[in-house]
Amino acid sequence: MINFTVGPVTASEEVLSIGTEQLPYFRTAEFSEIMLENEKYILKYSKAGRNARAVFMTCSSTGSMEAVIMNCFTKRDKLLVINGGNFGQRFADLCEIHEIPYVSIALEYGKKLRKEKLYEYDGQDFTGLLVNVDETSTGVLYDVEMLGEFCEKNHLFFVCDCVSSFLADSFDMEKLKADIMITGSQKVLACPPGISIIVFSEKAVERVNCLKTRSMYFNLKSMLKDQERGQTPFTPAVGILLQINVRLKEIERLGGVDKEVERVALQAKDFREKIKGLPFMLISESPANAVTPLHPLSANAYEIVLRLKEEYGIWVCPNGGELRDYLFRVGHIGALSHEDNSTLVKAFQDLKLRGLL
Ligand SMILES: *Cc1c(COP(=O)(O)O)cnc(C)c1O
Repeated sequence: MINFTVGPVTASEEVLSIGTEQLPYFRTAEFSEIMLENEKYILKYSKAGRNARAVFMTCSSTGSMEAVIMNCFTKRDKLLVINGGNFGQRFADLCEIHEIPYVSIALEYGKKLRKEKLYEYDGQDFTGLLVNVDETSTGVLYDVEMLGEFCEKNHLFFVCDCVSSFLADSFDMEKLKADIMITGSQKVLACPPGISIIVFSEKAVERVNCLKTRSMYFNLKSMLKDQERGQTPFTPAVGILLQINVRLKEIERLGGVDKEVERVALQAKDFREKIKGLPFMLISESPANAVTPLHPLSANAYEIVLRLKEEYGIWVCPNGGELRDYLFRVGHIGALSHEDNSTLVKAFQDLKLRGLL
């Protein structure tokens, strides 16, 4: 199978080979050293500022989104949620569950947030802003610089879900003055699912340390405390953390974060050029590098997903809910090549010849 989904994606040979080894015990100096090295690389690649910190949560990235809501906000906050798809809605749902006051800025599928619309919320009583930098369900990349300026002007605690954009689109946490960055192991990091990562600005660390959290497992104060010595309060996904270590060093060896972003960008560009002339509509007004959502003009999107899987040995990503028959997505992350793009495009051409596209 060639995997064009958005996670889990194809891992490199080196990452894969670690997965076949016996796991070490983790309350050791050696494992602590790996965890501290992981933190160092994550801070470097997110371009986090002075005294920033990172923790490694054993849960999927939704767990980290929830932990951030639980540990950084209270009923006295009032948040702005940029809601342009499934992941924006997830932040809104989390605010509902944890009874954090919020207002959703609802956007049509595929549309970016314009400055005029954002500034309708300027100078009000908001205290924080939540955004999925790449709204992966529609592949829209929001203008984080615009959001960062807005947050600075309005003194908002700025949370960036970069689950699918970290290492795929450039991100400078310090320059943006972002307070939180969230990512996960199974997207551009191209490791198995199970670990998600939270980066904290200095201000975010202070905030977490002075708020009370009613949770044992999702307590970021204790995560931060233990990570000071490269440990976690409970047994982490040891194997995935070792794979992440190998992968972070692989990125370093291949030229660092900017090079990785460029590689994903070229993979996306190559695909978008190759599908010109095929009966698809690109729906994203401001396309992120990680994924291309396609609307087939004269076929059912979900049927194409199934046919590619069953007849061509290719996985692409279906959309859920009301978009299932309208849209599917082609990922550009993981160990994919331009040749893989050509294989997928040939399958599209074949479907067209057969009158199925
Ligand atoms: C994949 C993704 C998540 C969460 O994914 P999990 O399934 O919880 O790992 C959150 N936000 C965005 C933008 C994503 O792409």
